[in-house]
Parts: sequence; structure tokens; C-alpha cells
Amino acid sequence: FAPWADPSEKPLIRFENVTKTFDGFTAVDDLSLDIYTREFFALLGASGCGKSTLLRMLAGFERPTKGRIVLDGEDLTGIPPYRRPVNMMFQSYALFPHMSVAKNIAFGLKQDGMAKSEREDRIAEVLKLVKMERFANRKPDQLSGGQQQRVALARSLAKRPKVLLLDEPLGALDKKLREETQFELTDLQYDLGMTFIMVTHDQEEAMTMADRIAVMDQGHIRQIGTPPEIYEAPSSRFVADFVGSVNIFEGKVAKKTGERVTLETPSGGVIEADNGGAAEAGSTAWYAVRPEKLIISAEPLDGPNVFSGEVWEIAYIGDMTLFHLKLDDGSILRVSMVNRARSSPLQLTWHERAWASFAPDAGLVLVR
Ligand code: ATP
Repeated sequence: FAPWADPSEKPLIRFENVTKTFDGFTAVDDLSLDIYTREFFALLGASGCGKSTLLRMLAGFERPTKGRIVLDGEDLTGIPPYRRPVNMMFQSYALFPHMSVAKNIAFGLKQDGMAKSEREDRIAEVLKLVKMERFANRKPDQLSGGQQQRVALARSLAKRPKVLLLDEPLGALDKKLREETQFELTDLQYDLGMTFIMVTHDQEEAMTMADRIAVMDQGHIRQIGTPPEIYEAPSSRFVADFVGSVNIFEGKVAKKTGERVTLETPSGGVIEADNGGAAEAGSTAWYAVRPEKLIISAEPLDGPNVFSGEVWEIAYIGDMTLFHLKLDDGSILRVSMVNRARSSPLQLTWHERAWASFAPDAGLVLVR
């Protein structure tokens, strides 16, 4: 949890055993989830996992087939979208093209019957928030993508919803602008003290912005946690593989002493692991280790967990260099090294032999 979210309080939003089916297809499957006031919460998953459907049910655009959603103690079943204290910002921004920025923002406020002077104050307030005061009279097609995104944000904040729902909010921006906007959005969310729920398929975006992430797959939540929990302590191979890059070894638990586990891979490799608590002697388990937790060398290495193979790929990507080591059983071991100096001291050559190793506590033993 983020320090400003208080899990001892009642959750602001509660999904209770929510199921959504479309003509017999289950998009969301008996899902329960609590989200707290002031959290920046991300629903992360591949296309089709049900994350948008979950958001749309909270907004009131879809009705759960089973279960219910409670917001601030109130059951939302039967409450139409415009009466819910939530607002949704879409990826396409959905701005009215024929209306100025100010009129776009005024539209919803007018529908709610807000008086003109109050409306004007509110428009000025939200345009200031997103640093777009100077653009009030422009039409959307006279704005850049990033500016349109800000207007859409201003419009969705204007009604002061308790919860803002963001569906792939930065999807239309280029990489540089997206990175800047990520921090602007988290700063704004923090300053406003609002609850944001974002849907994204981009794990880096979820990691950068969210206080907590729910990793979704096939209508289920596979894991909920803070970004470090999800990345460093994935509970399954699915989550380890979906979030970030990972090496996964399959093996048999040959020995177990307390937490210490020895895994034997089918090709005769041996892995010593420090954290095999859930693994049982004699059963199959997996060892998942991130590429940056390994070291690679042109000389033989000492210690446990040393693998050797042929340098198969070297990709220089500026801040890091990625290596693929092709092991003798044909599998690929990924290693990444931060480029700390301008010239790399690593003398590795394509198609030559190299050694990689990792410490027993560098990765995790997984049992599913
Ligand atoms: P994306 O990132 O592609 O939007 P998503 O994870 O948000 O994917 P959803 O939009 O929630 O996925 O859809 C989940 C599943 O439900 C998909 O298989 C989709 O085809 C199906 N689905 C969604 N809406 C409908 C609908 N109105 N009618 C029928 N099937 C639907």
C-alpha cells in the first residue's frame, strides 16, 4: 500500500464476486477486489483479459451478470452512470470536435445544471490544473495529442468525481511525452487526493504510476501488489513472465533443507535456491530469475548456479546491454548489464563461450 492509502479504513470500492458474461463468454469471472481512498490503482493485463469490462461495470456502462459493486458503502447496482461519483477518461479522449476546449469542459457541467458563473470558475480551475489556461478557445484539432489528453483530463476532473477511471490514458502519446505525462498524472492525483483506477496493458506504465497493481488474466486477478511486490515476488510463472523479462528453469526438487532447495533440470543443470519454502521434495518446481540479477563473464565463474553457453545475441540499448546465452540444451539464458561506464569492460564476442551465474537468493522458487 502507498503510505497515504489506509487499509485499516473501509475500502472505497469493493467488487464482490463480480461475474460478467457476454453470450455465454465469461469476460470477468467471480472477481473480488478492494480499492482504497487515494490509491492509484492499475488493472494490468493483456488484450481481452477483462480489465476494461471491469472498469466499465464500475462506471455503469455494463451491468454485472452476478455479484455487486459497492462504492463508499453504497451498492451501485441499478444506479445509472451519470449518477455515479465516478468519471471515465477514454483513450480516444472523445472530445467534441466542433466545440472549443472551454465548451468541451462546460458540456457536462451544463447538463448537471451548474450556473454559468460557477461553470466558468470550474473551467478556469481545471484548465489551470492541467496547465492549459491559454488554450480555452482552441478547437481540439488545433491541439497536439498531449494537449488533447490534458483537455480530456480536465474535462473528466471538472465534476470533481470521487474516482477517476482511466482507460489506457496515455496510449496515444509518443514515448517521450508519455513518460513526462506519467509523472504529471501521478503528481496531480496525489495533490488532488483522488482515487485513480487505470487500465493498461503496458507493465512499465503500471509500474511507474500505480501504488498497487492487479495483474489480470482470463477474467481473473492473478496477483495484487505494489510494483516491487509484483516484480520481485511474483506468485506464479504467469505473473513473473507477464511483468518484465525473466529466465524460468523447470526442475525437480532433489533436496530440501528448511528453505534451501536443490533443483535439478532435465538437462542435468543444478540450481541452489534459498527460498523454496513452498516446494516439496520430489515434486516439480520452477526457478524464476530476472536477467539483471545474473552476471556474465568471458572467463569461467566459481560458486553455485553457474551456466555456460554460447553468446548468441548482444543487444546494446544505451543504458543496458542484453545478452542471450545459448545453453548446451538449446535454451536461452537472458542476462542484462547496466552500462555504467562509457566503454564496456566486458569482452564478450558473438558465438564464443561465456559463463553466467546468479546467487541462490537472486530469484524465486515457484510452485505454479
Ligand atoms: P483490451 O485491452 O483489448 O481492451 P481488455 O482486457 O480490456 O482488452 P475487455 O474489453 O474487458 O478486455 O474484454 C474482455 C473479453 O470480453 C474479450 O474477449 C471481449 O471480446 C469480450 N467482450 C467485451 N465486451 C463485449 C461485448 N459487448 N460483447 C461481447 N463480448 C465482449
